[in-house]
Amino acid sequence: MNSSNRTALIIGGGIIGCSIAFELLRAGIKCTLIDKGALNKEASTAAAGMLGAQVEIHHPGAFYDLCKWSQQLYRNWTEDLLETGGISPQYIDKGILRAALTEEDELELLSRLPWIHNAEWLTAKEMRAIEPCLSHEIRGGLSFQQDHQVHPVHLALALQASIHKLGCDIREWTPAFGLIERNGRIQGVRTAEGELLADQVIIASGAWSSALTEPFGLKLSLFPVKGQCISLRTAAPVISSTVFTKGCYIVPKQDGSMIIGATQEECGYDKRCQASVIGTLHTAATKLLPELEQAEFVSTWAGLRPGTPDDLPYIGRFETIPGLIMAAGHYRNGILLAPATGLLIKQLVMEEPTGINLTPFTPDRVLTPLQQIN
Ligand SMILES: Cc1cc2nc3c(=O)[nH]c(=O)nc-3n(C[C@H](O)[C@H](O)[C@H](O)COP(=O)(O)OP(=O)(O)OC[C@H]3O[C@@H](n4cnc5c(N)ncnc54)[C@H](O)[C@@H]3O)c2cc1C
Repeated sequence: MNSSNRTALIIGGGIIGCSIAFELLRAGIKCTLIDKGALNKEASTAAAGMLGAQVEIHHPGAFYDLCKWSQQLYRNWTEDLLETGGISPQYIDKGILRAALTEEDELELLSRLPWIHNAEWLTAKEMRAIEPCLSHEIRGGLSFQQDHQVHPVHLALALQASIHKLGCDIREWTPAFGLIERNGRIQGVRTAEGELLADQVIIASGAWSSALTEPFGLKLSLFPVKGQCISLRTAAPVISSTVFTKGCYIVPKQDGSMIIGATQEECGYDKRCQASVIGTLHTAATKLLPELEQAEFVSTWAGLRPGTPDDLPYIGRFETIPGLIMAAGHYRNGILLAPATGLLIKQLVMEEPTGINLTPFTPDRVLTPLQQIN
């Protein structure tokens, strides 16, 4: 089948679903993208936008390699989005300073040096030479100059404009109620507007993804991990790099605001913000950047990261269900992993060799032997 005859149906219009649509459309595959609400109103636009392949990862391995690969794809990918849809995702190539405030944290950071790439240990004085407003309590830290950032809201707008331009059939307010299996193959989904059929069905429904596979006996462990954030503004900029310490990061944006995040709470699908939690975040941020004590309050919000038991995403086909591909569970790194995920899913759909070995990320890894046989 040549690519222009192939069809794909993507369930979920967050950053992951939109990135997949972008790559499939660029490859000439006809795409339908459905979302239960409006596009990009869940985890993807609650994010801070760090591309933290170095800062976020605490040990070497397949996940670190995936993160680094996606990070390398990022700059060109955002340029492609700007060229296609006319909207900039606001890629900022300033790095991240990861400061230690305790001896324990300092030792943990130093233990990463033997294997981490593109990182340099800086003394407290050297860190303050780069960011003079950093607290005098910092003990030093790591500088990750390759860990850049985007603005997630602008990234979402850039992706939406690009897939619209490439002819994606976008259907908002269209929840998928269930998968359609015929002749031993997944062929589409049921919606309130009727059946939608395609050669390939891709689940990219974030923290909601397991509801669709469960009726087939496939209990994919995927759960929401709430993150509360606060945004502040100061009269004049106090940092130009992202600054990060254990339990708190501060990401400066082009509009002069700073995103401070984020909590990690396993409390179901609750997106409410609590004043006490936001107060604790503000205190943690002030410890790192004392100037934030008197900063102007802009807003608070919360989003639900798609968590998995081993913190690895599910990217790949199910061995036992032809026609179904999974792209979910990106937890804390879905913004970073968007270009790699889009490309990998395109390669699977086109039956091309994948850019990396997908075995560590196969959704089959969490199924019991009984589920795998059935
Ligand atoms: C506070 C916070 C800070 C973060 N910071 C960063 C960061 O700095 N860097 C980074 O890389 N990552 C970050 N993340 C993680 C990142 O946001 C997520 O990993 C990523 O957004 C997941 O994208 P997604 O498209 O899988 O999920 P989502 O954005 O949640 O999208 C899933 C979509 O599927 C739709 N859907 C669900 N069920 C159905 C259905 N049955 N039918 C149709 N549609 C359905 C939903 O409506 C939703 O639009 C952060 C997350 C949070 C919450």
